[in-house]
Amino acid sequence: MSLFQEIGAYVDVLLPLPLENAFTYAVPPALVEEIQVGKRVVVPFQKGKFYSGLIINIHADNPTSYPCKMIEEVLDVFPLLEEKHLQFWKWMSQYYLSPLGLVMNQAFPSALKLASKTILLPNPDFDAESEHELSDQEFLLLEAIQIRGKIDLDEAAKIIRKRSAFGVVRSLIQKGGAIATEEMNEKVAPKIENFISIHPQFQGEAALRILFEKLEKAPKQLDILLVFLQLAKDSAAMISRKTLLKHPQAHPQPLTALLQKGVLVQSKQAISRLVENSSDRKEMILSEAQSKSLDEIKASFSHFSTVLFRGITGSGKTAIYIKLIEEQIKLGKQVLFLVPEIALTTQLVGRIRQVFGEVGVYHSKMNEQERVELFNAVVMNQFSVVLGVRSGVFLPFSNLGLIIVDEEHDTAYKQQDPSPRFHARDCAFVLGQLHASRVLLGSATPSIESYYAAKSGKIGLVELDERFGVAIPPAIELLDLVKAKEQGAMKDYFSWALLAEIQEKVENHDQVILFRNRRGYHPVQQCSTCGKLVECPKCDVSLNYHKGTQNLVCHYCGYQEKSVSHCKACGSEEISMLGFGTEKVEEDIQALFPDFKVERLDQDVTKKKSAFKDIFKSMEEGKVDILVGTQMISKGLDFENVTLVGVLNADQSLSWTDFRAVERTFQQLMQVSGRAGRHAKKGKVLIQTRQPKHPIFSFLQKQHFPSFYEWQIVERREFGYPPFSKMILITLSGKKEEIVVEASELMAKKLRLTLPKGTLGPVPPPVSKINNRYFRQIQVKYHVEKIKPQTIKAHLHDLQKALQGAPIFKSIFISIDVDPT
Ligand SMILES: [Zn+2]
Ligand SMILES: [Zn+2]
Repeated sequence: MSLFQEIGAYVDVLLPLPLENAFTYAVPPALVEEIQVGKRVVVPFQKGKFYSGLIINIHADNPTSYPCKMIEEVLDVFPLLEEKHLQFWKWMSQYYLSPLGLVMNQAFPSALKLASKTILLPNPDFDAESEHELSDQEFLLLEAIQIRGKIDLDEAAKIIRKRSAFGVVRSLIQKGGAIATEEMNEKVAPKIENFISIHPQFQGEAALRILFEKLEKAPKQLDILLVFLQLAKDSAAMISRKTLLKHPQAHPQPLTALLQKGVLVQSKQAISRLVENSSDRKEMILSEAQSKSLDEIKASFSHFSTVLFRGITGSGKTAIYIKLIEEQIKLGKQVLFLVPEIALTTQLVGRIRQVFGEVGVYHSKMNEQERVELFNAVVMNQFSVVLGVRSGVFLPFSNLGLIIVDEEHDTAYKQQDPSPRFHARDCAFVLGQLHASRVLLGSATPSIESYYAAKSGKIGLVELDERFGVAIPPAIELLDLVKAKEQGAMKDYFSWALLAEIQEKVENHDQVILFRNRRGYHPVQQCSTCGKLVECPKCDVSLNYHKGTQNLVCHYCGYQEKSVSHCKACGSEEISMLGFGTEKVEEDIQALFPDFKVERLDQDVTKKKSAFKDIFKSMEEGKVDILVGTQMISKGLDFENVTLVGVLNADQSLSWTDFRAVERTFQQLMQVSGRAGRHAKKGKVLIQTRQPKHPIFSFLQKQHFPSFYEWQIVERREFGYPPFSKMILITLSGKKEEIVVEASELMAKKLRLTLPKGTLGPVPPPVSKINNRYFRQIQVKYHVEKIKPQTIKAHLHDLQKALQGAPIFKSIFISIDVDPT
């Protein structure tokens, strides 16, 4: 008898729901030996519903405030999480003012969050022969799922006549009979492939030698065997049939013969979707400048746990990352490589795989099954390197040595919705401390905050201002749109100068990128008679005309309607289409240069899963002359033949009122400029603007981030913006505008009691109505030297609770965004 069995054991169980606290459950004596912090258990919660929750504490205190229920089952054999992972969750919950249950909800793939409403689907690849491995209850459940097509966990419990079916469901999923999902339409198909191995009888050197002699008269069969051994390197290993037959000396017929003789054995195996092997590993050779930076980074890590590495576009940062990763692997450590968006880093993933072979990849476009596989693989320590987007910070590494945050300035690192609204870069910093690992932030145009932290000695700084190889930075030229219009040197929104440049480059067999940060065809329709704009009925924004679908589309709520033929206000049929998006640019440029091959890359195109890869490939193969795109084309792409980048209108983002507008524009234009002339050919960037005198352009033309920073930091200091202050953005929304206004005014009034000067608003945000919901925002700005962040956050938390507790504000949704971007 253990101590807990004698005195009674209790566990605090966290549920993936918007709840602040964990709930205490009693542990039945039979399960006492199994419980451990970090394991999942099944517990009843509210009206006989069951959930899988996580044990976060074990103790002997029976709660007095509520009757304590019992845990039903323990789901895991080994804990999924360690204490430091829970510490990270707790930090995130407190820092970002998000209930701990929601942090759990974010951190776990849904298949790990089984709940009564989880849907079970039949697994189309389930092998009927495996049925005999199932228990009676598993078999009963399998039959029900196959007959009905889908069942939820409540139904499953009824079928096997148990209070909860979690345990049986989990083992059925593990045996491949069913798939768990929260989304009804998702079908997960594990990839099954045929694998070949040598029969155990012939494995080993002596047995093989005899086999070789026997096969002397069948040279083709011998070839197969030799190819097998060459590829597998070990007679006991297994290789896929496909891989084997790809070899020029391996043919299907002799393979079949060997299988019939029983020399080789074929079996079906699920191949992990996480791994795409690359056979040829390449050795990286660093330039002198790169080697110097690498040494500096290593030296800096002896003083700082976090180092900012600023290397201009084309300087070859990736090669340096790879060297650092190699070192960690030699030390037996794991590496988390964060990137802003996986879809945009095809080339990067390829390069990393070329060097390290197996790497894990974790991103939002993966299906549930793939996410769980990767999550479990990390628990089991199967990958040394994992490439991930921002949610990668939740992976339960046990032996992390290095976190790389590439393009650390990118706003994609910030989660907007749902809560927790975390910033993966800032999380990486905290993770680094918890794991005692190093953190490398990389960028050509770091965020003002990170560069400030580096300049003021809080984190290390290493800078590289030389492009790799023979490449030299592109020449950046401005084109004054006002002047060009006066001189009549415009064709629609293209300057003659840009058109001439495009023609010259393409005729010279170079490639051109045209950047326009707006998708669709015409962003605005206006009645020529009464001046009314065609707006979304549910939002206060105008509808975008998409020519491909002939629809007017709202980019905020997704609302669509057929394009209008008359004004809804006055009935006039004269509707003018204004503005231009990428779809129109593609069409216009094609009309101007009918012989050139034009492609487009934006969110609309990439809705098709393979579109990105396809365009990418044709671009690499030189089948595209002109690529038109949104910011999607600005990140990380590296095409040898691109020598001209045209920015069609740089003014749009400069006109934003946000204090970060200039920083964002600079980053974006630097990034997109960086696509030109990355190799032997010199690149050119042509920026069309109405405000060529704007100071941003002088820094851009110099392509010198430090002087841009010096200019910006003065402004930030003068107006007390971050990094000289901290900000929190509070957004209230609801279906009744007057209630939203009342609630936000009350909230602002209360906040002013603590922060009289630091509370701004409430004001309607730039888009104040989305999908029939009205929005108001309050901005809180404070200085950490004057008031503790915890004080403000505690105050905010109480205010939110009090407000949402009031009956008239019950329907108001309050979102709190700490460190908004
Ligand atoms: Zn009208
Ligand atoms: Zn809308």
